[in-house]
Amino acid sequence: MEHCDLLVVNIAELVTAPVSTQARHGLAMSELVQIKDAALAVEGERIAAVGPRRQLEKQFQPVEIVDVKARAVVPGFVDPHTHAAWAGIRAGEFEQRIAGASYMEIMAAGGGILSTVQATRAADLSQLMAETGARLERMLTYGTTTAEIKTGYGLDLANERKMLDAIHMLDAQYDLDLVPTFLGAHAVPSEYKGNPDAYVDSVVEEMLPDLGTMIYTVNTETAGSYRQGAAQFCDVFCERGVFDVEQTRRILEAAKGHGLALKLHVDEFEPMGGTSLAVELGATSVDHLVRTGDKELQLLAGSATIAVVLPGTPFGLGQSHYAPARKLIDYGGAVALATDLNPGTSWCESMPMMMALATRMMRMTPAEALTAATLNAAYAIGFGRSIGALAPGYQADFVILESADYRDLTYRYGTNPVAAVYKKGRRVRNLCGSY
Ligand SMILES: [Zn+2]
Repeated sequence: MEHCDLLVVNIAELVTAPVSTQARHGLAMSELVQIKDAALAVEGERIAAVGPRRQLEKQFQPVEIVDVKARAVVPGFVDPHTHAAWAGIRAGEFEQRIAGASYMEIMAAGGGILSTVQATRAADLSQLMAETGARLERMLTYGTTTAEIKTGYGLDLANERKMLDAIHMLDAQYDLDLVPTFLGAHAVPSEYKGNPDAYVDSVVEEMLPDLGTMIYTVNTETAGSYRQGAAQFCDVFCERGVFDVEQTRRILEAAKGHGLALKLHVDEFEPMGGTSLAVELGATSVDHLVRTGDKELQLLAGSATIAVVLPGTPFGLGQSHYAPARKLIDYGGAVALATDLNPGTSWCESMPMMMALATRMMRMTPAEALTAATLNAAYAIGFGRSIGALAPGYQADFVILESADYRDLTYRYGTNPVAAVYKKGRRVRNLCGSY
């Protein structure tokens, strides 16, 4: 008999994307490993084995046995696009939008992202951490075990650094892992109004050299929480009225020079050519894609760049048009799902809610939605070889559902389908109280 620390038994079905050396593309997104009456063995922080219960009970001598009473088990969710760190609220703007003002009109009038910039600049580190921590707590409760977090509400060196400090300290404090992205080019701050090129100069010449180095320092000083070789990203909001394709290219090429991997916000409101730029620069992911044209969708589908779709955003804006995820998958692309958690367009911490929207509004199947919220999402932040699947050697991050059928993640919505959350082999949240 082999030793293991934990044997999870009486799993109605264990469901996961199969491990693969890159994100799952096209038809492969719907291929799942599905084991009925399963067990899962954990040794230390990693999965030792998954398989039929009877087989694993014969194979392992566990220190602890957990009987999950005929519930389904899936990988912990990975949220690869969030703006979870901010201060303040924008409920008033939501009310204006419901009354007919557009998101871009509100932004042009100094609201939108810039009002959150004002509140985030005014908040000290502890206030920013307290407000963000409440959201991280909800993310964990809804089964998210790893999340990307962007800066971009500081928009000057000192405040972007404060945001990175907050992300770093929250990563150490909370049970979920955080992956930081520098998004200095989230908006043109009011002190550079009418002169976006001068702000791009500041991002390229002042912030990237300083913060790129700081990200690296954080990474090596805290190898316990930030894994070795962790991907660190630079992102740009490439959109009319924000940053054009040439400004975006300038920032991302500079970021690449500092060793950062790349992400882009593109085509949320208008197609601008940012998708082609993402593919050309070998970006890890390109995100939003609500208005991307057919030619660029085909180019993207044939590339290694992952399409991160964010159905919470059109839903949050009350729009009826969603990213063409169905088309991207049919073209052979790799799609990941994220919340886009932010105070303007999508204040929602729940990945199951994104899966419920993805199936209805973008015609993804429940199987595709699971792959998109786990393994493909892990690849979208550079960690697909260690998280996002239930397989030997993978980090033991998993979610026990209330239900016996994983499809309830998409079928039911608006309530929490999670019974318990395990991170690195340890139960970090127990919502059902029955074991
Ligand atoms: Zn975003």
